[in-house]
Amino acid sequence: MTEDLFQISTTYLDRLCNVIGERPVGSLGNQEAAEYIEKEMKLQGWETETPEFNALDWHDGGAILSVGSEKFTVSASPYSLGFSGEAELLSVTNVAELAKADAAGKILFLHGDIAAEQLMPKNFVFFNPDEHKEILALLEQSGARAIICATKRNSALAGGLYPFPLIEDGDFDIPSVYMTEEEGRKLLPFVGERVILKSDVKRIESKGCNVIGKKGNLSADKIVVTAHLDAKRGTPGAIDNATGVIVLLLLARLLDDYSGNLQIELVALNGEDYYAVPGQMNYIAANQDSFNKVMLNINIDGAGYRGGPSALSFYGLSSPVENKAREVLSSSKGVVEGGQWPQGDHSIFIQYGRPAIAATSHWFSENMDSQTITHTPEDNPKIVDCQKLVELAETLNTLIRKLQMLRDN
Ligand SMILES: [Zn+2]
Repeated sequence: MTEDLFQISTTYLDRLCNVIGERPVGSLGNQEAAEYIEKEMKLQGWETETPEFNALDWHDGGAILSVGSEKFTVSASPYSLGFSGEAELLSVTNVAELAKADAAGKILFLHGDIAAEQLMPKNFVFFNPDEHKEILALLEQSGARAIICATKRNSALAGGLYPFPLIEDGDFDIPSVYMTEEEGRKLLPFVGERVILKSDVKRIESKGCNVIGKKGNLSADKIVVTAHLDAKRGTPGAIDNATGVIVLLLLARLLDDYSGNLQIELVALNGEDYYAVPGQMNYIAANQDSFNKVMLNINIDGAGYRGGPSALSFYGLSSPVENKAREVLSSSKGVVEGGQWPQGDHSIFIQYGRPAIAATSHWFSENMDSQTITHTPEDNPKIVDCQKLVELAETLNTLIRKLQMLRDN
């Protein structure tokens, strides 16, 4: 009996994006998604774990900026503290100006060069340019009461979001808001005047968890299949990354009879799109001393876009594994080899010296710098073709079983 995997994918997609909806770490939607994933894995006979961690949820009641009778459109930076007050507006466009600025008691207006790309969160360990750390440290020393940022379009670094929040960091405690470049130009003549900023937002202590399903010989080396279950605020997160979770759950079904002498670990990681990447940090802490048991990571992020095939890219594979992967691709439907991309949870395994395969939509990997979908309401079920998810899951199922056989020979 073959299950109707297409129908099942459609049900999963509807559940994750429409019934549950937004799934940022710490939110109710995120907790519901984790419960749902665990329940589905259990139903397919997987041994599950849900290691828990602390994570902030965040309430956004909106923000208002005004000078006299002029009003400006601003949004509170995600995970920012709230603010209500009046102060002199001080303009800063680069690091040198920030270093010299007499900002104590003022509201800083960051625009131009200094606001060109999103600042990596203070405690983000994987990739954090010195310049970003310097800017955040200078801001913290400045004595500024609040920060207004005007940001440009930057698809490569901020997804499709415009304007993007320059600061998105629950560990940074100066309240901040952000606005478009156009709105910023309107604000410029008011530098030196007193502005009124109200930002009605709140940090809420909450929890999140990873969901891990295991099968096979649990003391043996393992293939770890990962897909992040969280999504950015303000998007149903269809391609990023409900579809990855769906492929993970389809694999849970396709591999339900698996009993090989290699461990399979299905991991819904929780935090790829969250400032503190708590699920990833939790997984690393738990596996610190056993990354050498990871024979291969397969990470799924951005799969199932309606236009074009799925693409697999390879990172540090041994030649027998790479040959096997190419052989599987040559006879698979709808999946091709694509170029490497560094953003995503496979980078964790690569940093620990483990081989990895990343699965995504070919169209997204080719259009990463110009697409305007990621992290916006446009990333919804309408742009997903569930047939592509079925094809990808079937391809990965074949690959995993062949790698198991390769191992036994
Ligand atoms: Zn993602």
